[in-house]
Amino acid sequence: MHEFSLVQLLIAQAVRAAAPAKPESIRMIHVALGPLTGVEPVLVQQAFESLKASTALNTCELEILEQPLTAVCLECGADFEINNFVFRCANCNCDRIQITQGDELRLVSLQVEEQATTQMLAACSSTTTSNKGTQDE
Ligand SMILES: [Zn+2]
Repeated sequence: MHEFSLVQLLIAQAVRAAAPAKPESIRMIHVALGPLTGVEPVLVQQAFESLKASTALNTCELEILEQPLTAVCLECGADFEINNFVFRCANCNCDRIQITQGDELRLVSLQVEEQATTQMLAACSSTTTSNKGTQDE
């Protein structure tokens, strides 16, 4: 259940990143998922769906962007994409390479509900209830 621990970390990271906005105002989380994480996007999605129910993110959606696996060669300096998990330089065929992308589940961006929208709604409802000045949260 590797994907559950990854998603738990991701949720905690998203909540921190959204601050000072409240966690429940996060509408969408965009993440990049690399093949070296060894987890399937569909499993990450499922883990998120089942974990979010018990958090403030229960109305939040997750969008997963599948990342290619890329590396840089330490011999010739070539940047290349790794296909079929062949860890060799595409240019000089040596195996002294360093992974540059594709080994992580990374938070890319968040969509947080605009504070202005909620304030506008609050202003509208206060005109009908006439209890101006006693609003909290
Ligand atoms: Zn090379």
